[in-house]
Amino acid sequence: MKNYNNILEKLRASGSLRSLPDVVHRGKWIEKEGQVMLNLSSNDYLGLASRQDLRNEFIGQLQENDLLFSSSSSRLLTGNFPIYTELEELIADRFGREAALLFNSGYHANTGVLPALTDKQSLILADKLVHASIIDGILLSGTPYQRYRHNDYGHLKQLLTKYAHEYEQVIIVTESIFSMDGDVADLRSLVSLKKTYPNIWLYVDEAHAIGVRGKNGLGIAEEQDCIRDIDFLVGTFGKALGSMGAYLLCSRTIREYLVNTMRPLIFSTALPPVQIAWTKFLFEKLPDFTDERHRLAVTSHTLSEALKGQGGEISASHIIPFIIGENEDCILTSLHLQRKGFYCLPVRPPTVPKGTARIRFSLTADITKEEITELITNIGK
Ligand SMILES: *Cc1c(COP(=O)(O)O)cnc(C)c1O
Repeated sequence: MKNYNNILEKLRASGSLRSLPDVVHRGKWIEKEGQVMLNLSSNDYLGLASRQDLRNEFIGQLQENDLLFSSSSSRLLTGNFPIYTELEELIADRFGREAALLFNSGYHANTGVLPALTDKQSLILADKLVHASIIDGILLSGTPYQRYRHNDYGHLKQLLTKYAHEYEQVIIVTESIFSMDGDVADLRSLVSLKKTYPNIWLYVDEAHAIGVRGKNGLGIAEEQDCIRDIDFLVGTFGKALGSMGAYLLCSRTIREYLVNTMRPLIFSTALPPVQIAWTKFLFEKLPDFTDERHRLAVTSHTLSEALKGQGGEISASHIIPFIIGENEDCILTSLHLQRKGFYCLPVRPPTVPKGTARIRFSLTADITKEEITELITNIGK
């Protein structure tokens, strides 16, 4: 038998042991072991999840039919409440696309869509830094795959030249804003590349960008004006949308195909209708959050400028790496900043490459300029 205690001890010795922190949320602050800190590790990018006024408004207008805390079934059996279709139609309409399909989470989306779409005659070409859920989707699919160097479209082009004609279809997979580096994919270049061959699909995960980027908050695809050119456009509700779940924008055919084949959609109970109603309530308001998007852009720019040469220059978003290098140093710096009232967390290998342990700041719209200035002063100490 395996000795799991020994394995845990090794993780502890290398500074890689993970644990579930005991924390209490107080709006943009977080309380841990009696200390109240500014939360610099939240995915509530627009600050919507913690807004009492929005919750009150939502509860005030909630229909009795949607006040259900369980769907009690997969959507394919009895769990398909009208609110699901309403949200899908709203999203498809906002993006100006044929169809949308909802999932229980981004993890479900990425581990379900890729395996459903591909087989041994397909090839997946994925950016080296895509999220673990995409990797898991690729591995589950059993489809041949290659990773191209991060945002290196020259490398991707080489792979396409070499392999595109050998497979029935190729799927290029990328994130728009990357989870750990906070840099942004050039979706337009990917669209051009895709168009050089007849058998290429483009799959983009906008988990960190939906709500945050684009004039109406529709993400990098909106910002770069290429929504219609992305075959599979995925996003999540658990981050800026302050809710839970995920969506895919695609053609009507693909939607119908996934309803017939996608296992996490077919074999899992659908999210509670009340959750979908909350997502719909916030999604309807998404174009109105321009002030939030603007404030977030300003503070993000200030912090990434201050961290130039230490990782800040890599970021082009509200996710800003502060690269420290070794695990122990990274943990010490994060503890130092926590003592100063800034809740920031170390990210270590294997989540990031060896020797690039970092603090990953992820800013939210309710963090002020003054708070960022104070953080920068404390980083300098
Ligand atoms: C957070 C994240 C996911 C997972 O979404 P959940 O809804 O939290 O399961 C998927 N992809 C990326 C890029 C993410 O950052």
